Amino acid sequence: MKTITRRNFNTVIAKGMGGAALLSAAPFACAMGTSQDKKKLGIALVGLGSYSTYQLAPALQDTQHCYLAGIVTGTLEKEKAWADKYGIPAKNIYNYQNFDDIANNEDIDVVYVVLPNSMHAEFSIRAAQAGKHVICEKPMGISVEECDAIIDACKKAGVKLGMGYRLHSEPYTQQVKKFVKGKTFGDIQFVSAEAAYRSTGNPDQWRLDKSLSGGGALMNMGVYAVQSAIYGTGENPISVSAQEFSTRPEYFKDTDETIMAQFEFPSGAVGNISTSHNFNANSMYVSGTSGWFQLQPANNYGPLSGRTSKDDEIKFPHESQQKLQMDDFAKHVLFGEPNKAPGDMGKRDMMIVEAIYESISKGGQKIPLDFAPGFGFGG
Ligand code: NAD
Repeated sequence: MKTITRRNFNTVIAKGMGGAALLSAAPFACAMGTSQDKKKLGIALVGLGSYSTYQLAPALQDTQHCYLAGIVTGTLEKEKAWADKYGIPAKNIYNYQNFDDIANNEDIDVVYVVLPNSMHAEFSIRAAQAGKHVICEKPMGISVEECDAIIDACKKAGVKLGMGYRLHSEPYTQQVKKFVKGKTFGDIQFVSAEAAYRSTGNPDQWRLDKSLSGGGALMNMGVYAVQSAIYGTGENPISVSAQEFSTRPEYFKDTDETIMAQFEFPSGAVGNISTSHNFNANSMYVSGTSGWFQLQPANNYGPLSGRTSKDDEIKFPHESQQKLQMDDFAKHVLFGEPNKAPGDMGKRDMMIVEAIYESISKGGQKIPLDFAPGFGFGG
């Protein structure tokens, strides 16, 4: 099994430059040429862990504009099990070593990277270099530098890039955005967002290993709370201050257990987020000059639930969020529909994550943030 190191990440980036030069001589020769003639895009999942197994692959049985065409795995037994279960032909099955041969496979239009966080950059860049559109799971990488490298590689290869931020495709989150945009509850003054679960499993899991995860609760769940704070106000923050709390250092040897952070927004709105691997929390609350709304749960696989100060329940029929998300990305590729979770969104969140860690390292100091208005907002 291949683990990314700083050295092989740099090699991939260096190869990316060369690959990009080749690709620029024949722009859009691979993915763009074939994808646009297709009715349904073929997706290859890279990394067949729990998210691919229990969410993405089942959702791909119901998607309208894409389907499960291939797999990339480091585990031989999974090749047969997945081939049998989903009827995947042998020519569409890859491992981490021969993955780059996917460039020659016309069945595969999109590579969806569902690996531990420190491997996102390497495989997203290799996918782009192979001429495939890319969906990258959250968090986009383990540093802003990696996010830039992914964005760059996709631009140079002329392929589309989307984040695995499923909530942007589901109706409760879209309703939140509508409330904010339409000022249904006046001007937003305050947002509170929580994304956390209590981790008690194997202490050797990759999520608790900084070299693979890049960090703890903040990298894993915290990005959802950051996201909620942003779509709950409709603004990117202009500063963040943060604090870290630890109660089980023997379990969380290498990664953050609980982090709380406070945001200021350009309008004067303020926000408070909490994320943890030590307690359960899953909600967002937004208060405006003429009322409030909340979602609880706000960021799990659903069904979500919400209500407002107008005494209304927010209620939508439940559908697989992953199905909606992958179809939205396919419609972006096939029909030029808006990219609801573009690469810039993943990069923006990583910039905020890095600022949160910086604030903690400086004893909670306020760290200024300077985003162009709307930077990282999806379509
Ligand atoms: P998982 O541990 O269940 O699966 C990880 C997969 O990566 C496994 O198949 C494993 O064999 C493979 N792998 C390859 N190299 C590895 C290495 N060196 N160490 C460990 N595993 C290695 O994880 P998961 O829950 O499927 O998460 C995968 C990615 O998907 C993560 O980036 C996570 O943040 C993201 N995710 C997103 C959502 C979402 O709602 N968008 C939900 C769950 C996970």
